[in-house]
Amino acid sequence: MTDAHEFIPAARPVIDEDEIEAAVRVLRSGRVVQGPEVAAFEEEFSELVDGRHCVAVNSGTSALHLSLMALGLGPGDEVIVPSFSFAASANAVRLVGADVVFADIDADTFCLDPAAVEAAITPRTAAIMPVHLYGHPAAMDRIMAIAAQHGLAVVEDACQAHAAALNGTPVGAFGAAGTFSFYPTKNMHSLEGGMISTGDAEVARTLRLLRNQGMEQRYANEIVGANVRMTDVSAAIGRVQRGKLDGWTEQRIANAAYLTEHISAPNVVTPKVAEGARHIYHQYTVRIQGDREAVMAGLTEAGIGNAVYYPTPIHRLKPYWEPDQKAGRTWDLPETERAAAEVVSLPVHPSLSANDLERIAAAVNTLGERL
Ligand SMILES: *Cc1c(COP(=O)(O)O)cnc(C)c1O
Repeated sequence: MTDAHEFIPAARPVIDEDEIEAAVRVLRSGRVVQGPEVAAFEEEFSELVDGRHCVAVNSGTSALHLSLMALGLGPGDEVIVPSFSFAASANAVRLVGADVVFADIDADTFCLDPAAVEAAITPRTAAIMPVHLYGHPAAMDRIMAIAAQHGLAVVEDACQAHAAALNGTPVGAFGAAGTFSFYPTKNMHSLEGGMISTGDAEVARTLRLLRNQGMEQRYANEIVGANVRMTDVSAAIGRVQRGKLDGWTEQRIANAAYLTEHISAPNVVTPKVAEGARHIYHQYTVRIQGDREAVMAGLTEAGIGNAVYYPTPIHRLKPYWEPDQKAGRTWDLPETERAAAEVVSLPVHPSLSANDLERIAAAVNTLGERL
């Protein structure tokens, strides 16, 4: 809780006594790796994805990378990805040697526009990677239909969207694989960590092999694998956080509802929610139609954390931009460019007090009136 003049951070990762106790319990047990905590965490997390198989790994990026490997994606394949995301989404595609094809986003949800996905399909397209950005589910009903029609795999990047849903189906329960991150600033964390969900037992087995040198039995390596295991210390912390997630999610949704009701400045566009969508507000992101830098500076001056996710779309980052320039390849992504120029995320995390929320809305309205 903060008093009237304290700085309100954009995010507040929680490490309370129960997380610390869980970590210490595992450390004292001596079973810090490949012990029982990881399996228990997988079991408990699977409730969030309609009981699908869950495989824990050491990060959300590893979850994406292994998912693409397990589905057999590689050189010669194209994967359709939004450019308006964290670089990890596209990096995972490049890490398996496949080609990234960027598709534009929907202006209201900031997630892949199904029409743009359809237009990006070529004979080499092998998969679609929708990102449930800011905690809003992508248009999975339409994306799954497009994938089925063209015989494409779907890998969901749900790294920002634990417990988001569309028409009652949770994210991570639509595609061939769903991926989650437990980085400290995400809606729940395990210090570092990730989870993959899949409805296919064979894919789950392949993922378990890939995360541990290709072994199920020690020294009986079946395939070439990596070491991207989650530690039992992380899993124990993740289990504690999983127990708190439902309450935190309700609080985020309530905080967002307050902000949307009280932000009224004409040039500040509050987030929209698609019909049937459960938005879990990993970020509460507004569009500033005017001088964004002035609004951000004003918020910081008023003691309110704020940030732009993401100022540079992935296709403009060096490892993507340079090869595209060389190949004479350009992308037509007007909504991506516009979003990158307009968005600002405001604090929405569950640690905000009623007073914090009042201060945020009041500051945004004052600054918005001046645009
Ligand atoms: C955080 C994040 C990732 C990567 O997760 P890490 O655990 O940091 O590796 C991938 N995609 C998106 C959209 C993310 O926000």
